[in-house]
Amino acid sequence: MGDKGSSGDTITFLGTAGARFAVTTQILDSGGLWLDLNGTEILLDPGPGCIVQSTKRKLRAEKLSAIIVSHRHLDHSADVNIMVEAMTQGGLKQRGWLFAPADALDTEPVIFSYLRKALDGIGVLQEGKSYQIDNISFSTPIRHIHQVETYGMIFTTPEHTFSYIADSRYFDGLCHSYGGELLIINVVLLEASQHIDHLSVADAEHIITELTPKVAILTHFGMSMWRAKPWEVAQSLSQKTGVRVLAARDGMKFELSQLDTT
Ligand SMILES: [Zn+2]
Repeated sequence: MGDKGSSGDTITFLGTAGARFAVTTQILDSGGLWLDLNGTEILLDPGPGCIVQSTKRKLRAEKLSAIIVSHRHLDHSADVNIMVEAMTQGGLKQRGWLFAPADALDTEPVIFSYLRKALDGIGVLQEGKSYQIDNISFSTPIRHIHQVETYGMIFTTPEHTFSYIADSRYFDGLCHSYGGELLIINVVLLEASQHIDHLSVADAEHIITELTPKVAILTHFGMSMWRAKPWEVAQSLSQKTGVRVLAARDGMKFELSQLDTT
């Protein structure tokens, strides 16, 4: 049962745009996901506008414990520097961690060198590894098929487990690697494309059917998804899979205590 007295677990969608055109036109916001897990605040994939979307919603970067970047593409990393600056109070207070794949940190790093010094540390995401942030753990079970080094995550809080399936071409490893009560899936494409390394609605249907979470949330919509009205796509996926499927909305705050009652 949800305990209203405890801090609980919440996920705020600071944007639902995915891939180039939905992001460059800002037809949807693109600020990433703000996790508040049992009082530990973690920012995931701070795309363009994260600083705007987070401050607008009174989310306070100086309370973040970590920023996690699934991969270096701009729609996931553009605001890393400004968010690190905010997390470290202008770089004056050493605190917080940054997690990213090696190829986002080595050549042409997503983080400026002068800001690295303000962090408590930088964690390199690798396949099959687990990481700890305060009382939250997360793992990066498998490297995705995408143009750059990319990982999704499984988060474990004292109360809940949920997965974030970041950008990828479909492969069976996704179904074998992720799990939990809640599945957040980046579904850029309405129809699968040979030439684009992103998940389609049919891929999402297959993954949801295989993993049977209590709830699945679609997000990171490309133009074709947006035109198809993601909430209608989600409704049809609910009917096909028997799982409650939601389409994320810009600014939507999902309380994980909802999972306890279903
Ligand atoms: Zn990408």
